[in-house]
Amino acid sequence: MTSRTDRTSPLRFLKRPMLVGALSLMAPGLLSGSSCSANSSTETQLRPRYVVGQAQSAQVAEESFERPTLEEIPIREAEPEVQLSEEEWRERLTPAQYRVLREEGTERAGSGELLHVKEEGTFVCAGCGQAVFSSEHKYDSRTGWPSFYAPISEEAVGTKMDTSHGMRRVEVHCSRCGGHLGHIFPDGPAPTGLRYCINSVSMGFTPADEAPVETPPSDDMPAEDAPATR
Ligand SMILES: [Zn+2]
Repeated sequence: MTSRTDRTSPLRFLKRPMLVGALSLMAPGLLSGSSCSANSSTETQLRPRYVVGQAQSAQVAEESFERPTLEEIPIREAEPEVQLSEEEWRERLTPAQYRVLREEGTERAGSGELLHVKEEGTFVCAGCGQAVFSSEHKYDSRTGWPSFYAPISEEAVGTKMDTSHGMRRVEVHCSRCGGHLGHIFPDGPAPTGLRYCINSVSMGFTPADEAPVETPPSDDMPAEDAPATR
């Protein structure tokens, strides 16, 4: 397992109180350069009611956080414990899931089923079932992809630098199976300033009131051998 120190944690920004109030007044478009994607050009339109509620609570915290740069996003690639052959992955996943999780594809903006999920619950990796994001950290980035300002835990995801398509981006993947989830951009809201731009098709969603009892994998029966559905 990769050791994860506090110094390299994406959540460390929570612990760095500094004043950058002026940043909140800048147009978000100036801060988001690359796709998966830059915020849309509809910034000046009225926000839906539910977003106003989120924005007001975020603004309180906005005064006490320092927006990170791309270079400050911690890079720590995971060493997946779930190792399957490409053939096994193709059997387990739908073609759309395979394209994103195993080939680092990106779904079309606005196409994801989980984009508008607002209820409480847990987002799990579609490849292995590990919890990767929580509704607690989800927000409406208006980019067309489910967006979070933090993962459910530091251990749940790994990161690596992605220079494909002529861009410099931080890729984010499931730490348990290595499945590609999306990218991280430094234009997110307080308190982290990070935007985890995640493909909906790479995840499943478990509503809070349907959350199954946690059963940690034992040596006798690895969880990845359990059937996905019954
Ligand atoms: Zn996974």
